[in-house]
Amino acid sequence: MLLIVGLVISSLASGLRLQAHTATLRERRTAALYAMARELATASSLDDIAKSSLSHLAKVFDASGMILLKRTDGTMRSLGAAGTAALLECADSGIADWVFTQQTIAGVGTDTLPAANAIYLPLNGTLGKVGVLVVHRNNRRPPLVSEQQRLLEAFANQIAVAVERDELRRAAHISAYAAHEERLRSSLLSSISHDLRTPLAVIGGSASSLLQGNSQLSEGAPRQVVQTIHDETQRMTRMVNNILDMTRLEAGPVQLDRQSYHLEEIVGAVLERLKDQFGQRAVRIAIPRDLPMLHVDGVLFEKVLINLLENAAKYTPPHTHIEVVASLQDRRIEIQVMDDGPGIPKGSEQQVFAKFYRGHAEESVTGTGLGLAICSAIIEAHRGRIWVENRPEGGAIFSLVLPLEAACKEHTKRVAP
Ligand code: ADP
Repeated sequence: MLLIVGLVISSLASGLRLQAHTATLRERRTAALYAMARELATASSLDDIAKSSLSHLAKVFDASGMILLKRTDGTMRSLGAAGTAALLECADSGIADWVFTQQTIAGVGTDTLPAANAIYLPLNGTLGKVGVLVVHRNNRRPPLVSEQQRLLEAFANQIAVAVERDELRRAAHISAYAAHEERLRSSLLSSISHDLRTPLAVIGGSASSLLQGNSQLSEGAPRQVVQTIHDETQRMTRMVNNILDMTRLEAGPVQLDRQSYHLEEIVGAVLERLKDQFGQRAVRIAIPRDLPMLHVDGVLFEKVLINLLENAAKYTPPHTHIEVVASLQDRRIEIQVMDDGPGIPKGSEQQVFAKFYRGHAEESVTGTGLGLAICSAIIEAHRGRIWVENRPEGGAIFSLVLPLEAACKEHTKRVAP
């Protein structure tokens, strides 16, 4: 009796031990999977996915791994290899290809190609095949038991889903970007068509009244009509030039034709060009005589000043004041264009430099919303900075700083009194 009871108790105890062991293994497996899933959920790029999944692989299986993703041209690309170049060498691209197409696990400890150096697991997401996970363990370590293999397969599933999610996220980002581009393009078209239609209508009307002969025009009127045609043509030319400049600046890295210029010369030339637009506004220039020469692309830099001064005239009432002030501040030249008009609407200090941004009340003023975007692109190409702030007493201050280039130091010596 005692023997039978002993046997029953010992078999029950060993069963319980086995159950406890299985439960511990299951718990460890769940904890490992949970830890990896939590990290993968916050991974924001493929590199992050590779880093966290391979580090979990190393921790749980004491193995190095490599994620191979299928490219659109059919070849495989590796996504971060924790296990160095040696692993890259040992990963057989033939086996990886086979595993990818057959969607079957292969390699050490499996029924397929057990002589291979690593274990190859298919990465299969919810939408389809993604790639292959290669896991390489030290040869002296015992092969994985079936429980471990199941855990490895669960790891591969998590990785595949994370990779797939990242690809979907990128696809969504690209389509959002394309939609944004499309919106920009249509806003450019509507802006161009609206802004060009007005001067075209004026030019067309004026030209046809000239064509109809002087009988309908009072004395001196033909000259005024020609003047209108001239003014409107100039306005249209400016707009078209702005659009062309922006297109050119966006086409690729800007090639600067840097030469040395005196700032007062550039400002003088710009003021001369814009004198008709200033009307009765008083313009004050304050440029120190010993200011170093600017080493800039003259044509582009002139465009910046033209846009800033033109805006100062466009967006301020007549009889206001415009100032151009320059100073040298610890190896940087700072130039400010100020006015005492209404200033920039609060909170739009960054937006005004965006493409096609126009203030809400600007329907009556012609423009494309590209002027300040062009200024910002040109100043950035010169490795400078441009920003705007409002004066406490009213009006806008557009400030730009340019780093002093080495080439203009010698000129400084020559020019300085
Ligand atoms: P545009 O003049 O063609 O509208 P800009 O890029 O030059 O385009 O200017 C963008 C917007 O910034 C303008 O529509 C206007 O609302 C605002 N802005 C620019 N300069 C001034 C200024 N000196 N004073 C007030 N608002 C300005």
